[in-house]
Amino acid sequence: MLTNMTRQSQKPTPRFDREVCIACTMCAGICPTGVIGLEIRNSARGFRRFPVLTDEKRCIGCKACEQDCPSGAIQMGSI
Ligand code: SF4
Ligand code: SF4
Repeated sequence: MLTNMTRQSQKPTPRFDREVCIACTMCAGICPTGVIGLEIRNSARGFRRFPVLTDEKRCIGCKACEQDCPSGAIQMGSI
């Protein structure tokens, strides 16, 4: 019971689709809590800075990153 309540109260956090992400870094810049970091990774277009959620607990679930992503690479979800 407690487990179900805990799950229901969890806020959604962003999931990044690296196949779709164009590594524009906009989400990291717009996040009001600064919780999106950037990691250098290799891709089909060479080494780029891709977003990662550095601390899920500090995300406030505002969806600004999802709404402003130009490629639709972010979807909000819960564990
Ligand atoms: S939902 Fe809001 S707080 Fe969470 S990572 Fe996206 S922009 Fe940052
Ligand atoms: S805004 Fe979208 S396309 Fe740009 S780095 Fe973030 S996830 Fe990738």
